Amino acid sequence: MPGPHNGWVAWQAGGKLAKAFAVMNTSAPEIVIVGAGVAGLAAAAAVRAQGRSALVLEAKGRVGGRAWTTRPAELGRVPFDHGASWLHEAEQNPLADLAKAAGRRLLDTERMRSRRLFVGGRLATPAEEDAYRQAYDAIVASVHARAAQGPDISLAEALRPYADNPWAPTIAAWEGAIIAAADAEVLSLKDWAVNSLEGQNLAVPDGLGALVADLLAPQAGEIRLNCPVRLIRWQEPNGAVVLETARGTLHARAAIVTVSTGVLAAGGIAFRPELPAPTQEAIHALPMGLLSKIAFRLREPEQSGLPASCAIFRQRHSFAEPAVIFHARPFGRDSVVSFFGGRTAWDLAKAGPQAAEDFVRAEWRAIFGAGADGWLAPGAVHTEWGTDPEVLGAYCYARPGQAEARARLAEPLAEGRLIFAGEACHTGLGGTVGGAYLSGWEAAQLVASRV
Ligand SMILES: Cc1cc2nc3c(=O)[nH]c(=O)nc-3n(C[C@H](O)[C@H](O)[C@H](O)COP(=O)(O)OP(=O)(O)OC[C@H]3O[C@@H](n4cnc5c(N)ncnc54)[C@H](O)[C@@H]3O)c2cc1C
Repeated sequence: MPGPHNGWVAWQAGGKLAKAFAVMNTSAPEIVIVGAGVAGLAAAAAVRAQGRSALVLEAKGRVGGRAWTTRPAELGRVPFDHGASWLHEAEQNPLADLAKAAGRRLLDTERMRSRRLFVGGRLATPAEEDAYRQAYDAIVASVHARAAQGPDISLAEALRPYADNPWAPTIAAWEGAIIAAADAEVLSLKDWAVNSLEGQNLAVPDGLGALVADLLAPQAGEIRLNCPVRLIRWQEPNGAVVLETARGTLHARAAIVTVSTGVLAAGGIAFRPELPAPTQEAIHALPMGLLSKIAFRLREPEQSGLPASCAIFRQRHSFAEPAVIFHARPFGRDSVVSFFGGRTAWDLAKAGPQAAEDFVRAEWRAIFGAGADGWLAPGAVHTEWGTDPEVLGAYCYARPGQAEARARLAEPLAEGRLIFAGEACHTGLGGTVGGAYLSGWEAAQLVASRV
């Protein structure tokens, strides 16, 4: 087992702060992990499982990164996930196994979810529902087939043969801006296809962020919060990696860096020497998409007539029309969570919370009529991933022609003394907590076997 190190460990779980003091020890950690998101916490646990010492450095005052649950007063103090909320591909998602083993309550989304598809301001007819389902299955299957064969074009280009299908704009918005957090025009078809989520989706009533903090943080050993890393010297003559942080300088045998590609591209951490060209190119080939949420308390949920866990969306009539998806009454609660992504989300992040809320309310009125505006109580909860300097987006996507970039970014540098990990580095579960966990775990095993 690894030895303890200087400092204190703190993590926030479901709003309550837990603090523990680690035993003093002056030895340097063997492996430093930058970032206490899912990838960083998994990496630290894997390093420790190999009998090596680990230290996690985190810029924020909490763990979990993009998996973060709070209990906002505006929503009646029920758990709200600002970032990740579903355990996708549960069959191959290690977090789903960990949660089950810990006896956590998980619910199968497909079993509990209902759906309301709207055409204009009315519910779709059964025939329209069928047409949408058939168009979705046929178009998505054909686009997947094209991804397996042809060159790596954009998802929008692959959808072009279906431009006249009345459901194509809705499918493009769903697969692009909402699921991939980026519009179909900018998405690599192959990256979209290989990271498509087709398995079981599990929902976490107590919050996925709380689950990450509860289950992963205690396995990670020492976590130093409020400790942003500014500079990494990764080719020192003595073989050490030197990390300059806001709280001093650390020496280690290797570093695992799990910050988002948004932070890397913005120069949030400087590297000396500069990163090799293929790594820098991979970072820029994997820009951050943005998915934003605005959550409202639903007044008089019975009056709305909406069933529990109801996905609500409207047919798009053109590829340019922005999309909003509503998740009404999650777990039967009296709230509504709206989701919008891609260019629309970036524009609204710049325009500010009032503009974003006006946009979402206009969509709600377009579906349910002007009277329904009053169903949504004032005082909404907004996510802020686009402007959060430690994340700068929701999750990354590959540009067309750049589907190999995730694998390139994950390649170890300096014989394993510097390695990147996180959702951006996973091919198959890219953009998810499951991918972040696997990437962190695999990077740690590789590093621990080499240094
Ligand atoms: C709105 C939204 C909805 C999502 N929905 C889902 C979902 O339902 N299911 C799903 O599986 N995934 C979802 N995701 C994606 C998922 O949250 C991420 O893929 C995953 O959490 C990324 O984990 P990570 O460890 O790679 O990165 P992060 O969580 O970003 O962790 C990196 C950590 O590094 C820290 N850091 C940054 N800079 C520094 C620095 N200089 N020094 C030290 N630390 C630093 C950050 O503060 C952060 O804690 C969603 C994301 C968003 C934003």
